[in-house]
Amino acid sequence: MKRSRFRYLRKILAFTAMVIILLGLLITIQTIRFSSRQIRIDPVAPVAIAAEATDRLSEAIQLSTVSYPGRIDTLAFRQLDTLIRNRFPLVDSLLERISVTDFSQVFRWPGRQADMQPILLLAHLDVVPVEDEAMSKWTYPPYSGEIADGYIWGRGSLDDKISAFAILEAIEHLLQEGYQPNRTIYLAFGHDEEVSGKAGAQTIARYFQEQGIRFEFVLDEGQLILENALAGLQPPLAMIGLAEKGYLTLDLQVDLPEGGHSSMPPPETAIGILARGIDLLQQSPSPARLDGATRGLFEYIGPEMDPMYKVIFANLWLTKPLLIKQLSGGNASNAMIRTTTAPTIIQGGVKANVLPTQAGAKINFRILPGETTASVTEYVREVIDDERVQVSPSADDSHQEPSPVSGTDTFGFRVIEKSIRQIFPEAVVAPALVIAATDSRHYQIVSDQIYRFQPLYLTQADLKRLHGIDERISVGNYEQAIRFYRQLISNATR
Ligand SMILES: [Zn+2]
Repeated sequence: MKRSRFRYLRKILAFTAMVIILLGLLITIQTIRFSSRQIRIDPVAPVAIAAEATDRLSEAIQLSTVSYPGRIDTLAFRQLDTLIRNRFPLVDSLLERISVTDFSQVFRWPGRQADMQPILLLAHLDVVPVEDEAMSKWTYPPYSGEIADGYIWGRGSLDDKISAFAILEAIEHLLQEGYQPNRTIYLAFGHDEEVSGKAGAQTIARYFQEQGIRFEFVLDEGQLILENALAGLQPPLAMIGLAEKGYLTLDLQVDLPEGGHSSMPPPETAIGILARGIDLLQQSPSPARLDGATRGLFEYIGPEMDPMYKVIFANLWLTKPLLIKQLSGGNASNAMIRTTTAPTIIQGGVKANVLPTQAGAKINFRILPGETTASVTEYVREVIDDERVQVSPSADDSHQEPSPVSGTDTFGFRVIEKSIRQIFPEAVVAPALVIAATDSRHYQIVSDQIYRFQPLYLTQADLKRLHGIDERISVGNYEQAIRFYRQLISNATR
């Protein structure tokens, strides 16, 4: 009896040891097979950039082309137009200008081969305002365009005059050299990106559609090169945005037939019912998903990571729950893997001793590609599961479905990837999801391949400067940005 039990135990131990060895073997094989996706290409020797390029960006920043909901400062946009005409003489005389809307700028640089599909480079000329209280916190005034301490300072130096001007500099440079593209290039610089892009980008995209013009690929802002992007990844990370999240605001409304005196309250008031619904939503975040652009990110960065992290990313079949738990812990990483839920407005009640009959709230969702505004609305109804809480799309906010996910096995991705590796050889390139919205969403009607990348080399701390205080770009980075667009245009149109 005793001996047989011992034998049984030995069998279990042997089996466990075998499972552990097999598992270890499988993890090792997966990790070894997890090879780098970085393309091997020699960096290009940096071309000389004239000092005036920095001055021109500075001049552009000095024009406060702010966009507000429903209005823009038209004079500043007119002055910016004049600046572009005067300061880029070859662009002005050799590129075709297409007038689609008043304050946006659209250019066409005809290619020699009419049968090649054109490409489209996007940027926006408007900037966000600076609040009065924040003015004094700037090291140099936000519209000074000060060139100091090795930086160009002011609104638009990151978002997004820098892209427009770096593109113009690159083209002026290529025109000076007598470069002739094989493929036609379009430029579209919107004037209201920060407030919807409806008068600018949307109108321009419809114009292209009416003309029957489709693009091989579109490049806009949205992602960039980040230092210390993730724990376990030493090199800077250049992210190419393949998709962007959708946007939805839902109204939650509770209307009760009767109110009454607060001395004899029922078990729940309108406020209590609403609060319970909001609490349920916060307790039940949308399911996490590691697919699409985020999956691509992990596949590209995994092989470049420190050994322990490499093992984790190479074995998602085993480590996925662990990774999801880890990513859910940070606000930014959480937003990469699920539709986010943010209660932003709540109202209800009129007097401290009167039972409210009405209470309402607005909940803002950023929707992961693969889900829809309809599926999110349905999910919210299911989670709250209370007929007294009416759920409906907010009438006073715009809604946007998540964008399609562009490919990584495409001409556009390969050209951007190659250009990054040539100009920023120290960076690891990877696809990624864009959490915010860009003008590029309007161009889905004219291209299947839309990418979001700005050649900005930033630290985590720099990210606060976007729409924040002390927006600035180093002179060296601006020159690299010009070199990037020059390389990109050359790679895409040769
Ligand atoms: Zn922007």
